[in-house]
Amino acid sequence: MSVLVINSGSSSIKYQLVNPDSGAAIASGLVERIGEETGHIEHNYGDVTREIDAPVPDHAIGLEKVLELFSEVGPSLTDGSISAVGHRVVQGGKYFSGPALITDEVQSLIEELCPLAPLHNPAHLKGIKVARRLLPGVAHVAVFDTAFFQSLPDEAATYALNREVAEKYQVRRYGAHGTSHQYVSGKVSEYVGRTDLKQIVLHLGNGASASAVIGRKAVETSMGLTPLEGLVMGGRTGDIDPAVIFHLARVGGMSIDELDNLFNRHSGLKGLTGENDMRAVWKLADEGDANALEALDVYAHRLVKYIGAYTATMGGLDALTFTAGAGENDSRLRAKVCERLTAFGVRLDEEANAIRSKEPRVISAPSSSVTVLVVPTNEELAIARQAMSLV
Ligand code: AMP
Repeated sequence: MSVLVINSGSSSIKYQLVNPDSGAAIASGLVERIGEETGHIEHNYGDVTREIDAPVPDHAIGLEKVLELFSEVGPSLTDGSISAVGHRVVQGGKYFSGPALITDEVQSLIEELCPLAPLHNPAHLKGIKVARRLLPGVAHVAVFDTAFFQSLPDEAATYALNREVAEKYQVRRYGAHGTSHQYVSGKVSEYVGRTDLKQIVLHLGNGASASAVIGRKAVETSMGLTPLEGLVMGGRTGDIDPAVIFHLARVGGMSIDELDNLFNRHSGLKGLTGENDMRAVWKLADEGDANALEALDVYAHRLVKYIGAYTATMGGLDALTFTAGAGENDSRLRAKVCERLTAFGVRLDEEANAIRSKEPRVISAPSSSVTVLVVPTNEELAIARQAMSLV
């Protein structure tokens, strides 16, 4: 039994064949540079990696090539072995608070939500349409990045924007990375053995977000209408006074598209240091680069502000968890954040923090009043399991 998980982007398709019971990734791959002069496909199965460099004019041809690779390199998808196809969808708006079996109606709703996620939902739709056509005998399930945060209390989801305008244009906090926050917070509950935890999850990858979760319910999250709000990210500003936009438009003469590009791609760590990869930022900092040192402080400061705010909002904090690329691998970053939390009784166990592992682990000292953990996220597995829950 396996689930094919597809993450279709505007010029790429990433996929993984997952065993939803064991969590094993059976095969994986990606199609890159769709629609460009040169395309690239990579398929991994067992010890075999097959790479193809050839133009991939559109998503349909990309997915057809992937299915050919499954028949040539394996494993075969034609013997009825896949139980479902799980599609990652960034924006589910107010319609989806959980996974949805994809019908024509669901597809139309995802289409209707395109204005709220103009970079993502149109690309997901391309993948969904092609996959439904090429794999017709199997259930297709959409798993939404926003679904976990549909449970946010109104007071957390509502911007203090003019109500009529907000309602007309569906402006509220939808959040993102929800599949990861749900998976990781669930793992923390299992690991700690409690279902009533007040917890904060820090998903620190190229995109970064924080969530506050009580029991199994999300009560706060740092991303907003779009993934731009909140923490400092690889290329995104995170929180910033919206009046900076008016200022740069009026005084700097910048267009909306230029501002979008500046805020989403050329800011954050990239804008502060020239590098958007956390490892490269540390390398600069180790060489004494003042901008990199400051960027790391800005990054940690923002995190600590959110942790403090969420602790106050929840009326306490039992568990603080780091996940995603930097969260899972960057022990110095974790130490930098936790040393600013001593007033909350947070104490790291330095040895435990230094251990590298793919397993969930506690990195706080026994004397710490908050349990600090590292829990690797696995969005593909979470999507596969959610897809199976509907089949
Ligand atoms: P993700 O988006 O989850 O793949 O995470 C990407 C981010 O994780 C990038 O900023 C990487 O620099 C960061 N990252 C991955 N491995 C490490 C590491 N060993 N130390 C610091 N940052 C890392």
